[in-house]
Amino acid sequence: MSNETIPGVSAPVNGEFIPSSFTLGHGQSAPSASPAALYPSALAAAYAAVDRAADPYERVKARALLAGYDRRWLERFTRARIITVETEFQYRLLNPETGGQSQSFDAAGKIDAIIEEDGRLKIVEHKTAGESIDPAASYWDRLTLDTQISAYYIAAETGLGLRPESVVYDVIRKPGLQATDVPVLDEAGLKIVIDLATGERALNKNGSPRQSGGEGYQMRLRPMTAEEYEAKLTGDIGERPEFYFAQREAARLDADIMEYMADAWAQGQMILYFRNRNLWPRNPSSCTVLGICPFFDLCAGHAAVDGLRYARGAKIHKELESIEENGRALLTNSRLLDLRSCARKHQLRYEERIERVGEEAEALRFGTLMHNGLEAWLSWIKQDQTKEEK
Ligand code: SF4
Repeated sequence: MSNETIPGVSAPVNGEFIPSSFTLGHGQSAPSASPAALYPSALAAAYAAVDRAADPYERVKARALLAGYDRRWLERFTRARIITVETEFQYRLLNPETGGQSQSFDAAGKIDAIIEEDGRLKIVEHKTAGESIDPAASYWDRLTLDTQISAYYIAAETGLGLRPESVVYDVIRKPGLQATDVPVLDEAGLKIVIDLATGERALNKNGSPRQSGGEGYQMRLRPMTAEEYEAKLTGDIGERPEFYFAQREAARLDADIMEYMADAWAQGQMILYFRNRNLWPRNPSSCTVLGICPFFDLCAGHAAVDGLRYARGAKIHKELESIEENGRALLTNSRLLDLRSCARKHQLRYEERIERVGEEAEALRFGTLMHNGLEAWLSWIKQDQTKEEK
């Protein structure tokens, strides 16, 4: 292959993606390290973003994680320079073999952040994980196959004129600790245990109030308050931050980006194939992976698109605020994930624009909440760095 340039991508597509000597802010160098202590309000900004959550337990879970994240990573992000936060992108999908532009699809998405650290540009990708993020966990191996990052490299290059050298996977593990029931205490701070035979408070032989349950006894319980749950989580996160927060940096080679382009093009062709035949195969193996599929009742014939359980006309790319489909469908990472897991799911959500009424999966809702908090946190630091430069 020649070392030509494909339309829309300014770097040679089959050479090395050699980082340019990109200079920040047109000639400015990164500011000297800013002590983390200068940023007391980044966390307050993050809290403000998550305090809008309707569920008080979800809200405090996000707050506890953000406080732990702030303690763990503030130093790193304040020493770096924050270049962009939550940047939406859209570019014509390209055929990597011919360089031809797609008439049907645009690649689209959002880059969480781009930072400059030690003179190197890095994409930051936030993830929330429900599984182990220990250094030896298989989670990290899977991330290396994460094609979405390659789309970010292309978008950074074509849309922003930036050439990142690596990606920082910034992973937060979702807490398994739940808000459980807790004992009701009397004025003296003692638990209240009832003797089921008499219905009276159970006493020990020495007359003191019994403090344990057991057969024939019932301890009075009440639900843990949101404030107590926040304190419980904060304690656990403070004791083992490495359990909850981990980062790993990886490079993306030119070959990885070319492979992503070939994958994305092939998936676009697959959509056209299914669309032209109005044929969207179901994949029953996916129905209960990561919880039950939101379209299960519709797919199984237990419900209809009647506006009660399912409705048509949903905004299908809720994560993208400023990007609209412009005669070409948007290929986002979420869309490609749906297509890979089940063509019928992809059809219902992205072709038919159907959604389940009034239900948002807990995992998705909490992921969005954390994303909002992290966006506010990084934006605050970026804004402060901009002020310092003036
Ligand atoms: S859309 Fe696919 S994954 Fe969802 S219920 Fe139907 S077959 Fe299963």
